Amino acid sequence: MSLPTRLLDGYRAFRNARLPLEQSRYRDLAEHGQAPEVMVIGCCDSRVSPEVIFDARPGELFVVRNVANLVPPYSPDGAYHGVSAALEFAIAALKVKHIVVLGHAHCGGVRAFAEDAAPLSPGDFIGKWMSLMAPAAASVGPRGDRAEADYLEQMERASIANSIDNLLSFPRLRSLVEAGELTLHGAYFGVATGRLSVRDPATGAFKPIAE
Ligand SMILES: [Zn+2]
Repeated sequence: MSLPTRLLDGYRAFRNARLPLEQSRYRDLAEHGQAPEVMVIGCCDSRVSPEVIFDARPGELFVVRNVANLVPPYSPDGAYHGVSAALEFAIAALKVKHIVVLGHAHCGGVRAFAEDAAPLSPGDFIGKWMSLMAPAAASVGPRGDRAEADYLEQMERASIANSIDNLLSFPRLRSLVEAGELTLHGAYFGVATGRLSVRDPATGAFKPIAE
């Protein structure tokens, strides 16, 4: 058994073109360890790769991706918390300076929540996970006569704010933010346009990055 042909071809392209350019950087990162200053919390969506969008080199971004770029609230309950484990490592070991919650247009997870979609499996892991969005949905209110696309975009953006609120429920993270040693950001990627908007923490509005 081998990897899919697409992956083998892609790896060979990487080995022939990019690896020679990055070889010394990889060796340096292996010897001295990674020291990324930025953590990105993004969606699993195959169209929204943080390393592609931010043109990142090896060692620059510490990335955790999950369905709909959600952050669960701080809950030291002994359960398995993948996002919390990544956060703990990012702030306590790597001492990142920035955390970016990267949301995006046409998010399937947000749509599933908004449409109260039927479970894809008896476990309904997506439904349970997406219930983290409830506070965001409450802030947006019922769809009413809003166009579906507008409503979903408002939900996607409100969910970014909700994830930032939940980040602040982690005591150590919050104290780093209050000490000015860590900055939280929200960003929104338009899949069709490739446009990135950044959340203004004072107003909650998203503004496109200038050309
Ligand atoms: Zn998504």
